[in-house]
Amino acid sequence: MKTLLILGGGTGGTMVANKMSRLLDMQEWKIILVDKDETHYYQPGFLFIPFGIYSPKDVVRPKRDFVPHSIEFIISDIEVIEPDKNRVKLTRNKRVINYDQLVIATGSHIHPEETEGLEDGGWQKNIFDFYTLDGAEKLSHFLKFWNGGRMVLNVTEMPIKCSVAPLEFLFLADWFFHERGLRDKVEIVYTTPLPGAFTTARASSLLGDLVEQKGVNLEADYNIMEVDSGKNVIRSYDEREIEYDLLISIPTHMGAEVVERSGMGDELNFIPTHKHTLQTKKWKNVWVIGDAGNIPASKAGSVAHFMLDVLVENLLRAIEGLEPRPDFDGHANCFIESGFEKGILIDFNYDVEPLPGKYPLPILGPFSLLKETAANHWGKMAFRWVYWNVLLKGTKIPLGSQMSMIGKYA
Ligand SMILES: Cc1cc2nc3c(=O)[nH]c(=O)nc-3n(C[C@H](O)[C@H](O)[C@H](O)COP(=O)(O)OP(=O)(O)OC[C@H]3O[C@@H](n4cnc5c(N)ncnc54)[C@H](O)[C@@H]3O)c2cc1C
Repeated sequence: MKTLLILGGGTGGTMVANKMSRLLDMQEWKIILVDKDETHYYQPGFLFIPFGIYSPKDVVRPKRDFVPHSIEFIISDIEVIEPDKNRVKLTRNKRVINYDQLVIATGSHIHPEETEGLEDGGWQKNIFDFYTLDGAEKLSHFLKFWNGGRMVLNVTEMPIKCSVAPLEFLFLADWFFHERGLRDKVEIVYTTPLPGAFTTARASSLLGDLVEQKGVNLEADYNIMEVDSGKNVIRSYDEREIEYDLLISIPTHMGAEVVERSGMGDELNFIPTHKHTLQTKKWKNVWVIGDAGNIPASKAGSVAHFMLDVLVENLLRAIEGLEPRPDFDGHANCFIESGFEKGILIDFNYDVEPLPGKYPLPILGPFSLLKETAANHWGKMAFRWVYWNVLLKGTKIPLGSQMSMIGKYA
């Protein structure tokens, strides 16, 4: 028997496990999936929890519900990966697994301790994150009883998961405070290390306009140095000091600690990976899906989904002794909630910035690119159902992995 080992049973790992279980000859291959956590989190749903739109039960499911029976699913922390020896050591029962092919899908995680003072006195009192379920729930409780003041949202450094989520948070907050009759009592400030609201010109101009219309003060090129929670201020390296009553932090993101323990990552524990083949730069039988790699694509579930077919094809080719195909184009697709039951959709890749048009069908849409519409909002709300029922199962959907120019105009 040969072994395909998948580390991490979140978005990427679960999709690979499902798809490979249908493609590999299970008389010849054994597939093992390892994750330390029994619970699968629908992370895009964390955004809605602070505003009471979703509750925790909307975003959690048992991981086992999504793992095919033909696969061995182990709940354990991974102690170390030893790619030069083609083996992985687990903490549970000190089990050692030898593999023929390895897929790493251990994701990325927030590290508030990387920013001086962020976890001091104010953490989870008037400083919150919404990138964890715990943080989102505590923030929800805080917002229920908040009477207003200055809310500062700070992005510490890039890359972060779903780079539009901070903007969505601001737009939903604006809506939430309006609904509660508090908007004139809340000043909203957005501090980001980016030079504008987003990374590419056209999206940045649309989103920048929206930020302005919503009355959000944008503090661009802001690289946070420290949080002084005694004085309720944040300070940047260029000595800009900003006061807050409520600080929402998007902390530094890093790859899994096991990547560091295994000496496989860069300074942020992201694994050096070929951006078009998804093969690691150092080991030909080690592949990366989702957030765990250092490729310049967005860290998003949609990206993991667009990676899936390329990674699976290249795994099958490697098993046949063939070279991988450079087919991953960095395709990303994000719905951006803009509040008041409206949303924006962007679709882009390594080479093409978000463009206006219709998606997925030309003229018909139903979604509009780079435009605020109600249909885009309902697309975002429907995505949760699609995630649980279609994407995680690795089901083929009639959208290619690569970005299409159909329906877009320059
Ligand atoms: C607030 C928020 C909003 C978002 N919004 C969107 C959105 O609108 N659209 C979108 O496409 N994406 C969105 N995302 C991003 C998306 O959720 C992630 O990019 C996606 O889940 C990444 O998949 P992954 O498989 O790489 O990692 P994950 O799904 O995070 O899975 C990693 C798995 O590895 C396991 N693991 C890690 N270390 C170990 C270890 N040592 N031992 C065992 N197991 C381990 C973890 O338990 C976890 O199950 C959002 C994320 C957040 C936080």
